[in-house]
Amino acid sequence: MTTTGDPDVLVVGAGLAGLRAASVLHRHGLSVRVLESADRVGGRVATDVIDGFRCDRGFQVLNTSYPALRAALAPHGLDSLGARAFEPGAAIRAGDGELHRFVNPLRRPASAPGTALDDLFGPIDKAKLVAWTAKILASPPDRTATLIDSSGADDLAAAGIGGAVTDRFLRPFLSGVLGENALETSAAFVRLVWRSFALGTIVVPDDGMEALPRRLAAALPPGTVSLGIRVHAVTGGVRPRVATDDGTLAAHAVLVAADPRTAATLLPGVAEPRMNALTTFFHVPPQAPTASPLLHLDATGGPVASTVVLTAAAPGYSADGRPLVASSIVGTPGTTGTGEPDVRRELARIWGVPTEDWAHLHTAQVDEALPLFAPGRPIRRDVDLGENLFVAGDHRDTPSTQGALVSGRRAARAVLRRLGAE
Ligand SMILES: Cc1cc2nc3c(=O)[nH]c(=O)nc-3n(C[C@H](O)[C@H](O)[C@H](O)COP(=O)(O)OP(=O)(O)OC[C@H]3O[C@@H](n4cnc5c(N)ncnc54)[C@H](O)[C@@H]3O)c2cc1C
Repeated sequence: MTTTGDPDVLVVGAGLAGLRAASVLHRHGLSVRVLESADRVGGRVATDVIDGFRCDRGFQVLNTSYPALRAALAPHGLDSLGARAFEPGAAIRAGDGELHRFVNPLRRPASAPGTALDDLFGPIDKAKLVAWTAKILASPPDRTATLIDSSGADDLAAAGIGGAVTDRFLRPFLSGVLGENALETSAAFVRLVWRSFALGTIVVPDDGMEALPRRLAAALPPGTVSLGIRVHAVTGGVRPRVATDDGTLAAHAVLVAADPRTAATLLPGVAEPRMNALTTFFHVPPQAPTASPLLHLDATGGPVASTVVLTAAAPGYSADGRPLVASSIVGTPGTTGTGEPDVRRELARIWGVPTEDWAHLHTAQVDEALPLFAPGRPIRRDVDLGENLFVAGDHRDTPSTQGALVSGRRAARAVLRRLGAE
């Protein structure tokens, strides 16, 4: 389609949304150039190698039930990333010191009776949780996506699920995924997250989460992604343009897939969402506190949202076989007053082992980890802004890997329609 040296489409940002958009556009025969300000692809999905350990920039996982993830990796699938699975469920440390194990009965039916008999909360609460889950599973995701008027907290209250179930189980389980403790996120997203946990298994690539964006970038023609190029202005029109430090570039369409804050700065009409922060502390204990790749949670309302022996699931996270534990808090040490010594103390209680001799390897503080998906906004926001300007990113869909990939595909399709290339 190109008649000059300009590409058909300029994509700003090589996070998951930008890479996915570039892939769809390329597959439909358009020439694409992706401009990325950082020196690597992946955006918020990044892995740093520290003393031989792979430390993702914040503990994050992929879910095998994310349809957009499967589509983006087709035909090879998640196995081609060397995905390693966690146990489907969680262990929860209660206030009395007891460790309760919840195994997802849909993934491990043989463990269902043990989970049913557990006494972290009573049988009536359990029945309500099962009924809420069954309702979510019975409803098509598109219908669930319309439940945008209430928050997750209101939705649970309306289902009669309060007190013990929320405080001891759902809040600890969901806070690390939502990046907030109050469950003020839209009920639509809370339900979709719960659905994905019920139906899927959580996994990480054996050599770190960054394997995913690297894989998406490697599937593009060589030279598609230009690193180290910051876009500081975007102008719409018949030939939309972007201004960079190296000069101005033009194309038939410009698709901004930058982080939410930058997208709001570059594009008129794109609002900046509130961003939730997450901080992950990486420790190297002399021995792993468990051999089981099972997420551990705290039912007491303490600061640790989740803690897990990463190497129990993915041995590739350690170069020499030493274990690596990743433990996350909602917020940052600065905003919560929770520092590494506090986390280490909490970990001793949650894991039931002394942690004084755990080496603190690294802290990954992500101030702008996840856009808050507030009640009232539609699950799919517009991606075609007119004037041949398009927008993608997890702030247009759900704040997740799935949402970022869906938004990239949606925005690419909108470009294809606009350019008559579908
Ligand atoms: C700590 C943490 C934990 C998470 N946990 C999970 C999880 O368990 N499960 C899940 O599904 N999701 C999780 N997520 C969310 C998921 O990682 C994001 O939703 C997704 O990566 C967002 O991708 P994106 O492409 O929309 O944006 P980004 O990743 O922010 O990509 C934007 C890209 O644009 C580039 N850019 C910005 N400005 C410019 C500019 N001016 N010029 C050129 N380039 C620019 C950036 O450098 C970046 O590469 C987590 C996120 C974090 C941070």
